[in-house]
Amino acid sequence: MKSLMLLARTPIAVLNGVGDKYSASLASVGIESIFDLLTCYPYRYEDRRRVSEVAALSPGDSSWIHGRITEIKGYRSRRGRAVVEAGVDDATGTMQVVFFNQPWRARQLHAGEKVWMFGEVTSNRYSKLAEMVNPTVDIGNWPAQAGLVPVYPASEKASITSSDIMKFLDEALARAGELADPLSASQLEKLNMMGRTSAFWLIHRPRSPSDIAAARKRLAFDELLWLQVHLAATEIRRRKSSAGIRHDISGIGGLSWLRGDGDHGDNRGDGQRSRNGNRPRPRPRHAGTGGGVSCLLDEFFRSLPFALTGSQVKAIEEIAADMASPLPMHRLLQGDVGSGKTIVAVAALLTGVQGGYQSALMVPTEVLAEQHLFSLQKLVTGLHVADDSAIGGIRPIEVQLLTGRVPGSARSDIIRRISGGHADIVVGTHALLSETVSFHNLGVVVVDEQHRFGVEQRLSIRGKSGNPAGHDSTGHDPDVLVMTATPIPRTAALAVFGDLDLTSLSEMPEGRFPVKTIWVKSRGQEAKVWEAVRSEVSAGHKAYIVCPLIEDNERQAGVSATHEMERLANGPLAGLAVGLMHGALPASQKAETMEKFRTGKIQVLVSTTVVEVGVDVPDATVMVIEGADRFGLAQLHQLRGRVGRSNLPSWCYLLGEPVTKDGARRLEAIATTNDGFELSEIDMDIRGEGAVLGTRQAGRSGFKLATLRRVDSGEVERARELAMDLVGNDPELSSNPLLHDEVAMFIAEAGHYLVSG
Ligand code: ADP
Ligand code: MG
Repeated sequence: MKSLMLLARTPIAVLNGVGDKYSASLASVGIESIFDLLTCYPYRYEDRRRVSEVAALSPGDSSWIHGRITEIKGYRSRRGRAVVEAGVDDATGTMQVVFFNQPWRARQLHAGEKVWMFGEVTSNRYSKLAEMVNPTVDIGNWPAQAGLVPVYPASEKASITSSDIMKFLDEALARAGELADPLSASQLEKLNMMGRTSAFWLIHRPRSPSDIAAARKRLAFDELLWLQVHLAATEIRRRKSSAGIRHDISGIGGLSWLRGDGDHGDNRGDGQRSRNGNRPRPRPRHAGTGGGVSCLLDEFFRSLPFALTGSQVKAIEEIAADMASPLPMHRLLQGDVGSGKTIVAVAALLTGVQGGYQSALMVPTEVLAEQHLFSLQKLVTGLHVADDSAIGGIRPIEVQLLTGRVPGSARSDIIRRISGGHADIVVGTHALLSETVSFHNLGVVVVDEQHRFGVEQRLSIRGKSGNPAGHDSTGHDPDVLVMTATPIPRTAALAVFGDLDLTSLSEMPEGRFPVKTIWVKSRGQEAKVWEAVRSEVSAGHKAYIVCPLIEDNERQAGVSATHEMERLANGPLAGLAVGLMHGALPASQKAETMEKFRTGKIQVLVSTTVVEVGVDVPDATVMVIEGADRFGLAQLHQLRGRVGRSNLPSWCYLLGEPVTKDGARRLEAIATTNDGFELSEIDMDIRGEGAVLGTRQAGRSGFKLATLRRVDSGEVERARELAMDLVGNDPELSSNPLLHDEVAMFIAEAGHYLVSG
């Protein structure tokens, strides 16, 4: 029995049909070994099990006919495209055939000749006859292929056709013979799956559509299992090798009380407190804990002007349980736009601070760092920490900002305050990861992946603490909480962030109205948009108008923020206080403009996408997105999320005349649903999984067959379950060396698309 590893070491040149020339061209499309060839999967199948009569062809079907060429002619279209048109008939009728960009068809096919054609049936615009565009053709009385015919990715550049690959596969399948299977017969039975050998045969040589489905299911499962085994083993190894901090989570017990249900109220808090008794910790920093009266978290929760949602409470409790435990937290917090992730993140930061540790909030951009600083400061104002050197023994909590933009002198001061342990919370970009920054005792890191950090970056912050050994001064790893702005479906999250525990905010704060989204398909109708803006402003609310660019030379309406601001202020929105905001403005001016918008001195803010994330002005109720077809789906959803953040009804107007099909699909999607999870699925359909999930190469997820969409969600869960079973007590898989080697091979080849080692 041959293993996949052996097949991966067997060069394609061992096949009889493959000489030097084919070896080179196959290599150029990434097929170098027998394994590569076997996993070069058909991307579709032509159903040539039945021959159709021409008279019975029906548009929309993919059909196979046997007929005779009645006439053929080639010409160039006005745009210079090569067009070959043919008539084909059989005993029952006539159809038309058009080949685009295949000029050689005019020489290949002759009137009177018998042909087999397979293709999707359409209807000719003029003659109304059935038509096939670019069908597959066999010449003669006998078809070259019949049955369910696989179609392989051909490469014109490498001059490899689908039937070349098919031919090589015949030999490869025969030579491969029986394949070693890491899953036992009983495991397969439990999973209701076929063995590997059958799966490889049937995906390439199916006899029925159900063969294809079953083979695909098995082979896709292998890919999912490899990844899940890797993630599970990584997680287990991480747990073994790291020592976390038992954070002081006083104040969490009071949460249920805040929520107004007592079912796991104080008992839990007390339990945690007594467990915390023997926790090694530096000087306690929260003020006023002496009598157990209140603590930093208590004060924080009491200071909030609203009640937390059930989801927020549950999330905060899950995080607190991680933080109290001696294992370092490694958790992902997901939630749709507006679900209130900030509060949860701040609770985690403060949990660190109240036990005397420093906390860091890491974000991908400077603008976002500044915005986070602003909302954070608002939330922690009035909170104090214990400090023996301060008068009265307490001082206000200290929050510092560190980005690449902070100038030299201020920078070294901030860096000193961080390393000296004075800064309690540090907000920053990846500048936080620079060599010169070291923390006194970093206890918690919240990573806000608004636009997704590379996985490598995410992990490198963990080694970022008090001493070069990568631990804090007490020899511990900081707790890590990762937040994503754009939620992804659980299945995808499990696969991509499978080494993280998952918390999702599934609820929106009470009383929210879904934002009403209206796609205005032509600029001719823009007047009604400005009317809506005026009417909301006159009700005392505020509006955003987002443009794709800061400046443009053509001064097209709605393209650049600068021109649009002039145009609107002097035209459709004359008389309203209109302000301008974009990333190129000096920081002080940006802050001033935002402040004016918040306080209502500016009623309408014309802006670029700098307002995309984090901006929080609850009484803004209109979002107008100009040139909306130029934005990505996640971006549109984020922008829309700037409104609908209070109990006021809100609107989002999309102005855009998309020039591409995908552009139209995006606007259609965003106008139809407010559900970020659903939108990310649609986005994966449009752009490919890799692009959406932030893996390195757009369009690739590292899988050849499996997908992370809902179709495979059950399989992801089952793969995860089996992986946990397999590696739970045996992280090195010593009882299944075959699987161990397959995982290693998969991760070496595809893993860098998905995970870091
Ligand atoms: P996101 O999840 O998009 O980051 P935010 O954390 O910015 O959301 O919260 C969105 C808005 O909702 C903010 O104005 C915040 O103050 C408010 N908010 C958060 N939690 C609640 C709650 N439980 N009840 C009411 N408003 C809340
Ligand atoms: Mg936010």
